[in-house]
Amino acid sequence: MNKAELRDWVCRMPKAELHMHIDGSLEASRMLSLAKKHGVDLPYTSEAEVQNAYDFHDLQSFLDLYYLGASVLRDEEDFYFLMMDYLERCRADNIVHCEIMVEPQTYFPNGVDFDTFMKGFERAIAEANATWGQSVVLILSLLRHTPEDECLAVLEQARPWRHAFTAIGLASSERGHPPEKFERLYAAAKSEGYALTIHAGEEGPAEYIWTSLKSLGVARIDHGVRCTEDDALMDFLAEEKIPLTVCPLSNTRLKVYQTMHEHPVLTLLARGLCVTINSDDPAYFGGYLNANYLALLDTFEPSPQVFVELARNSFQAAFLEDTQRDAFLQTLAKWESAA
Ligand SMILES: [Zn+2]
Repeated sequence: MNKAELRDWVCRMPKAELHMHIDGSLEASRMLSLAKKHGVDLPYTSEAEVQNAYDFHDLQSFLDLYYLGASVLRDEEDFYFLMMDYLERCRADNIVHCEIMVEPQTYFPNGVDFDTFMKGFERAIAEANATWGQSVVLILSLLRHTPEDECLAVLEQARPWRHAFTAIGLASSERGHPPEKFERLYAAAKSEGYALTIHAGEEGPAEYIWTSLKSLGVARIDHGVRCTEDDALMDFLAEEKIPLTVCPLSNTRLKVYQTMHEHPVLTLLARGLCVTINSDDPAYFGGYLNANYLALLDTFEPSPQVFVELARNSFQAAFLEDTQRDAFLQTLAKWESAA
């Protein structure tokens, strides 16, 4: 395959995305139209102004704009279209299974309740599933800059929608909010049968990955790239097959790494870790899932087998029943052998 053929091949490859915040897929055009619809005063008047504002220097500078952007989401129709826009992208990029983070605490300050966003999300997911068989898992994502008691209250409020969520996660600023602050939250979620994931080792140290595994009992780590600072941790993650949901474009846009050349994801793959590729907040970080794969292709020029391995990991790491997982792995194997 020449370079152009390989790019096309990677884009058409069946794959899963496991780390995507739904508000992070809010495109500038929809943000501006919803601001107008609801009379929300944003400091932008054009898409170009929104894009110019996305000049982040760290996680917090991004989060400030992210919560501002999400403040335009107000009624059920807004949430339907937000979800549908992303699911259409999954269809185009052959993301046959996606795991999407939903963050109620982002909506509550604007007077939006569970029923409003969940009815919109569920309607879009049901349509995408009926129309092209889209597989979707939702992750109830709590915000770690808020008190644990508030997160526990959200878990309680989610009870009528328990059927819709497979896992819980913890996102937002890591600094000053270590995993052990949320031991009661994770114990409660575990007792209710949720699968467990957490953002750790993005801006926080490798130690946060250890404590997430040991104190909270999580099955998967979101980001986790700073495990490179601890050899014993990398060995442990490889031996225990703990997946990392890595987001290359997010990491370079938020200056975890200054350039893609410094990104360790393929080194971690070669070392035997179950790394996966994801987009995190694609509207803010310059690209959806395929753009992340292509950034690795353009920077490192790995063999086609590396991409198949990354896609295989995405299904291995998914919160799926084994029969569904096996079906996706077979689809990938068939696609590879037909290539
Ligand atoms: Zn994230």
